[in-house]
Amino acid sequence: MKGSVERCRKCGKKISVITWGVYRKVVVDARTIDVVPDWEGEEFVRYDGSKIRGREAEPGTLQTEPAYRPHRKTCGIEE
Ligand SMILES: [Zn+2]
Repeated sequence: MKGSVERCRKCGKKISVITWGVYRKVVVDARTIDVVPDWEGEEFVRYDGSKIRGREAEPGTLQTEPAYRPHRKTCGIEE
């Protein structure tokens, strides 16, 4: 399920709210990044709300998939 883009009330950055199931929702950064699966990596969120563990892919890496970074990790942090 695709989230709607909004702005974070705390830091003003663009965020998406992904909802799935009945009550579940997660706030993520608006832009997806390419993620390489890695069990020791960070937690990312797919379009459908499922979780993936991985790390941000270097340019040119194969076998990546687009995922969102949970906004709680970047809220208030300048890019
Ligand atoms: Zn924020």
